[in-house]
Amino acid sequence: MEMSSNPKIFRINTGSCNGCDVEIAASVMSSRFDLQKLGCEYIETSEDADIFMITGPVTARSLPFLKEVIKNHKKPYVVISLGTCSVTCGIFRDSYPILGPVDSYVNVDVNVAGCPPRPQAILEGVKTAIEILKRKNNEI
Ligand code: SF4
Repeated sequence: MEMSSNPKIFRINTGSCNGCDVEIAASVMSSRFDLQKLGCEYIETSEDADIFMITGPVTARSLPFLKEVIKNHKKPYVVISLGTCSVTCGIFRDSYPILGPVDSYVNVDVNVAGCPPRPQAILEGVKTAIEILKRKNNEI
């Protein structure tokens, strides 16, 4: 299957404090870390996504949406679990609404640690995700 020329990233916040999301914004807006140089673009709806970038631990409230989006996705995709909370629940572990890390509920391809991860780490995670996506699309 052929990948679109510009990998499309759909973000899902499953319960982040928004710190990771601010770093994502920094990685997009700063010319130093510009994700568009990798040919990526953020999209507002999930249907065309090539990469799911997930921030935060999974909460009871976010789980149904997360499962629905992933279950209904019709094309090859890569999941980035971004930030310590997404990877291990971080400081929110043992909080009452927290169900677990993202990989308890969906298959994760790339983990990007950090609280929050630095823009450089986000960029490296996206580069890795693009390589995995090419393999899933049989392009390499
Ligand atoms: S990893 Fe840190 S910045 Fe990201 S959601 Fe958790 S507490 Fe917030």
